[in-house]
Amino acid sequence: MMRLLRVLFCAYIMVVIVNAMPEPKDPRVPFKFYSRQDWGAAPANDTVPLNTPVPYVVIHHTYIPGACHTFEECSRSMLSMQNYHGVTLDWGDIGYNFCVGSEGGAYEGRGWKTKGIHAGRANGISVGICLIGDWRSELPPSMQLETTKALIESGVEKGFIRPDYKLVGHRQVMSTECPGGALYEHISGWEHFSPTFVPMKA
Ligand SMILES: [Zn+2]
Repeated sequence: MMRLLRVLFCAYIMVVIVNAMPEPKDPRVPFKFYSRQDWGAAPANDTVPLNTPVPYVVIHHTYIPGACHTFEECSRSMLSMQNYHGVTLDWGDIGYNFCVGSEGGAYEGRGWKTKGIHAGRANGISVGICLIGDWRSELPPSMQLETTKALIESGVEKGFIRPDYKLVGHRQVMSTECPGGALYEHISGWEHFSPTFVPMKA
């Protein structure tokens, strides 16, 4: 009888402790995510649906603008890119699906469901992620790299990226130095990196 009471008391204490703990953060989103609304995006004028799940992820850098380290700086970079891509180049919106800042924030560009304009023939079969900054000779801070990986992972979990996706740098799809030599060298060690770009059927 005493033993049963002890067990019941311990179980009661466990319930009290567990209930007193703070709500765990969603483990699938281990980074700050900023929606278009958060960074003050203008409405998109080009919204072709993306056929998902996509078989490719294409990695970019901006070169210009340079790295941003706060939400305010990164929001300004997003707005300047949206203006350049959307108005100056007449693409109707920022070209990338997502961007990532050096402070570790992920910024929604066209998002998961809209075809981007970032890598020519790969646009319709990929999600384009841009690491804001010039990564030709310098590597992005680890937070920026980790958020990029986690963002891709969340895309797989949400069903927008194929679990067997291939990761490539922009330079493998088109003639460009993007995503910069240092960053390209680094992502070539990532698990899903593909040394060649041979488009699979989406
Ligand atoms: Zn690029």
